[in-house]
Amino acid sequence: MPDARICIVGAGVTGATIARYLADIGIASHVFDSRNHVAGNCHTEWDAKAKCYHHVYGPHIFHTNTQEVIDWISRFTELVPYKHSVKSTTKGKVFSLPINLHTLNQFFGAAMSPNEAQAYLKGLADGSVDSDENFETRAVSLIGRNLYESFFEGYTRKQWGVEPSQIPSDILKRLPVRFNYDDNYFFHAFQGLPKAGYTEMVAAMLDHPLITVSLNSPKRFADLKDQYDKIFWSGPIEDVFDADEGYLPYRTLEFETSHVRGDTQGCPVMNFPDEDVSYTRSTQHNYFRSALETSEIEVSLMTYEYSKTWKPGDIQYYPVHLTGENDLLARYKARAAKIENLQLCGRLGQFKYMDMDVAIKGALDLVAASYPHSKA
Ligand code: UDP
Repeated sequence: MPDARICIVGAGVTGATIARYLADIGIASHVFDSRNHVAGNCHTEWDAKAKCYHHVYGPHIFHTNTQEVIDWISRFTELVPYKHSVKSTTKGKVFSLPINLHTLNQFFGAAMSPNEAQAYLKGLADGSVDSDENFETRAVSLIGRNLYESFFEGYTRKQWGVEPSQIPSDILKRLPVRFNYDDNYFFHAFQGLPKAGYTEMVAAMLDHPLITVSLNSPKRFADLKDQYDKIFWSGPIEDVFDADEGYLPYRTLEFETSHVRGDTQGCPVMNFPDEDVSYTRSTQHNYFRSALETSEIEVSLMTYEYSKTWKPGDIQYYPVHLTGENDLLARYKARAAKIENLQLCGRLGQFKYMDMDVAIKGALDLVAASYPHSKA
C-alpha cells in the first residue's frame, strides 16, 4: 500500500475524480467512504430480474456542455446516448414536461403555434411580481398562476417541505419553458449514461495502484487532521466539526421499490405534483437505456420516491437553501477556511445543489489548482 499523505473523504464522483487526477500525476491518496460501495448517491446495481440498472438513490442522468468532463468520464466508461423524458400526472391527466408547446396545447386544449403560445403565456404571466425574489414569483411571472399551481406548487411543497416562496428562484432555472415541441428534460447538448452503470465507472476511476479505497469506513475529521498533509472532504461540512453548532438543513429521500410484471409506466420518470399523492415521482429504471435498445420489457423495476426532512442518521440528498442568509453555513465555512490542510469539496462539502457534471468539473478545477498537472 503506497504511503498516502493525502486523504479523501467520500468515494462519490467528486472524491474519485480528485483521487484519480492525483494518481495520474504520481500522487498517492487514501479514499474513505462510510458506505459499502463507491459512487455515492449515483450508485447503480444491475437488477437481473428487470434486466436494467437500478439507480439505487434515485434517477441520475449525466448531462453537460463541458467537453472536459465528457473527456474525463469517457476514460472510465463508454457513454450510451440517452435522452431523458419526464412526464407529469396532475388531476388525472398526463402532460409533457418540461413545459413545452405540447404541454401548453394539452393543458389549454388548444392548437397554438409557437408565436401564439408565447403571446398567450405573456397574457397569463403576472408582470407585477419581482421574478428573482423567490421560486414562486419567478414561476408566476413566467407562466402564470394556473400552470404554476398545476405543475410546480404541490411538487415543490412536497419536495422541499416549505412554501415555494421560501425557495430561491434559481431552482426554477433548472427547468426550461419551451415554445416548441422539444421535450428534452435538459438544456445541455450532451446526455448519456455509463454503459455498465455509474458504480462501475467510479470503480474504474479509483482502480489505480496509487489509490487505496477503504469502504465501510466512516471518519471523523479530528482523527484525520494530524495524519495527512491534505484532506479533501466531500462529506457534509458540519461533520468536519462533529456538527458542534448544529446540523444544516437537508432533504432526505425514501424509496419504495418493487418488481411489476409488464411495462408499467412507459417512460423513465413520472412526476406527481398533486398534494394528495404523497410521493413526488416514480421511476421506471428499465427506461435508463438508449433509444436504440428496443427489447420488450417483461418485468418493470419501479421506485416511488418520497421526500422527507433529514434527521441525523439519514442520507443527505438535497441541501436546503432558503431565501435569505444561512448564518450557520457561513459560520462553518469561516471556521473551515482557517484549517490549513482541509479542502472542502463536492455537493455536501460545499452545501450546494449541483449536477454530476458540475461536481466533476469543480473537482478537476480544485485539484488542478492545488496540484498543477505536470504529468497528467
Ligand atoms: N419541480 C416542480 N415540478 C416538477 C419538476 C420540478 O415543481 O414537475 C421543481 C421542484 O421544486 C424541484 C425543482 O423544480 O425540486 C428542480 O427539479 P429537477 O427535476 O431538476 O429536480 P431533481 O431531479 O434534481 O430532483
